Amino acid sequence: MNIVLFGPPAAGKGTQAKRLVDQRGMVQLSTGDMLRAARSSGSELGDRVAGIMDRGELVSDAIVIALIEEALPAAEAAGGAIFDGFPRTIAQAEALDDLLAQRGSKIDVVLRLKVDDDALLARVTKRFGEQGRADDNPESFKVRLAAYNAQTAPLLPHYMAQGKLVEVDGMGAIDAVAGEIEAALAVVNKTPGAR
Ligand code: AMP
Repeated sequence: MNIVLFGPPAAGKGTQAKRLVDQRGMVQLSTGDMLRAARSSGSELGDRVAGIMDRGELVSDAIVIALIEEALPAAEAAGGAIFDGFPRTIAQAEALDDLLAQRGSKIDVVLRLKVDDDALLARVTKRFGEQGRADDNPESFKVRLAAYNAQTAPLLPHYMAQGKLVEVDGMGAIDAVAGEIEAALAVVNKTPGAR
């Protein structure tokens, strides 16, 4: 089964992806984590994306699509992927559909975590205080939210048209949101063709 966790920055995608990994043994594919790992390893790719990430802008489609392509076989072997923070543009969504189709696979469900902007700001302010992630500063966060609204939210009709979009109330506590996700996945599992 392949799941896309969809939502604005700080909606809780990473937190919920990790819970799903623990419970289901699937693989979390977070392009943000991959890019941060590239930066900490001091690779040429890491150097190339550092400024873009710190400003809160999106890195190029080619870079993140290549990262996902490389990671797909291991995810498939583990029983499926939880895509976290990918896809973020129409081009990425189309590339993902193609990459999965080439492997005889597909996205089963897109879980949209709905969180209002005030709550996002409160969460990211708290995380900035706790973790000091450069792109959680208020200026970069504004850019990240704008990038989400301009480039990522337009994917919603794409997945709606495919009949894959399920909305989840992401405003509650971590356990409550996890419960909603489990309920949504139980429905998907009962749908013919899901795996
Ligand atoms: P995240 O941890 O998912 O919030 O990602 C942190 C940053 O990494 C983003 O603000 C972008 O600069 C970059 N990034 C992560 N995933 C993508 C993606 N799918 N497309 C473009 N840029 C990305």
